[in-house]
Amino acid sequence: MQNDPLNLDEIVRQVRARSPGYCALSDRIWAIPELAFEEYRSVAEQIEMLEREGFRITRNVGGLPTAFLAEYGSGGPIIGILGEYDALPTLSQVSGVLEQTPVEKGAAGHGCGHNLLGAGSALAAAALKEVLATHHISGTIRYYGCPAEEAGGGKTYMTRAGVFDDVDVALCWHPHVVSEVYSTSTLAAIGIYFRFRGRATHAATSPHVGRSALDAVELMNVGVNYMREHMPSDARVHYAVTNTGGDAPNVVQAYAESIYSVRSPNLADARRLLERVKKIAQGAALMTETSVEMQIAGGSANVLPNRTLQEVMLENMQRLGAPAFDDADYDFAGKLRDLTISDEDTLASIAPRDPSLKSMILHNAVLPLPAREEIEMGTTDVGDVSWIVPTAQCYVACYAVGTAFHTWQMVTQGKMPAAHKGMVFAAQTLAATAAECLRNPAIIDRAKAELKERIGNQTYVCPIPPDVGPEDLRKKPA
Ligand SMILES: [Zn+2]
Repeated sequence: MQNDPLNLDEIVRQVRARSPGYCALSDRIWAIPELAFEEYRSVAEQIEMLEREGFRITRNVGGLPTAFLAEYGSGGPIIGILGEYDALPTLSQVSGVLEQTPVEKGAAGHGCGHNLLGAGSALAAAALKEVLATHHISGTIRYYGCPAEEAGGGKTYMTRAGVFDDVDVALCWHPHVVSEVYSTSTLAAIGIYFRFRGRATHAATSPHVGRSALDAVELMNVGVNYMREHMPSDARVHYAVTNTGGDAPNVVQAYAESIYSVRSPNLADARRLLERVKKIAQGAALMTETSVEMQIAGGSANVLPNRTLQEVMLENMQRLGAPAFDDADYDFAGKLRDLTISDEDTLASIAPRDPSLKSMILHNAVLPLPAREEIEMGTTDVGDVSWIVPTAQCYVACYAVGTAFHTWQMVTQGKMPAAHKGMVFAAQTLAATAAECLRNPAIIDRAKAELKERIGNQTYVCPIPPDVGPEDLRKKPA
């Protein structure tokens, strides 16, 4: 394969040549943590970098101000590489320390590693672009800057807007404590607000006049608790009360609000379950003589795994070899674990994988694909993309085994050398997998046929209705 310009050595070389610049990009994004749909500075940082690389930039993709597209090349195949960059509330944390120390108390932090995710995916796209340009290879590389993975589901809106419709293969990764191809399906989820309105009055002197919206919220929860016995065991329904109607017990609560999340291994079942939850809400309103208004608050489809692409990705991860951590990486990870992470947390971070992995401080191998496809009881907006385009993802070890997502421990490791090594390995994996698809379009045909077969007679209907935008979801009612 010496004359093959898409060979692995060339990919590795191109990624390596750029890795200092993209590690620095990841660090800059780490330092300006921005919440879902507010990632203006993180987007500007990435666009500046990718524009300099020679990508054509499209802003406002899918009508989202912090979604963008960086594109290079022409014609097919079209390879989409997905990036994220949103942070999480309250997780502000100093880098590289062994105790919880916020940079700014109450501020946001990169507790899910999306600084690495975005920069690593952009690095993969940039390396591929260079190979295509140098060797005059036809094909299109697109980096999709996807906002709001943590809240709102940017990719769900982008999918609804059709921005993935012409893509042949989509690739993504996520920083993790292990390195493996992401082989599971996930749960589809639909979020929905229930807003009850009743009538306020003095709770002692004229209670018969009042109609309590808070009662309706409580009765709805009781009704849903009874429903749980009679729903599929792999479905999930959870809620939060977002407005109790006030602090005063002597005022009958005229307004109260809850948000529910309804999840199921497939979108159609999640919708059916949602209809049952809505009936319970109506029942609660009827019982309390209140009214109820319902508003969809986001949603994502289940992931449709693609075994064809998973196998190609795994082969490339194995050929590349796992990230090579050094003594200093092990030293910091070991101390962090000893001082701040319990045994129980360590086991939870690797479950449902082999518990013996626990003995590794940093995971320096690539796990095989499980024999049987499993469901991860979580949700990602990559799910929506996977219904439209054959999609593959991987996890890459960037953090000490035992690190839980959405914790200060994840933030403090987010710009350490180990995290950079993981990010570079992820970029190599994505670029090499994409190169394999460009070199051998039969893989794309097989991956598409697999997706078609898996979908069968189902149809993708976006879980967020056509008239709902992110601004609606964040709007708090009066
Ligand atoms: Zn994440």
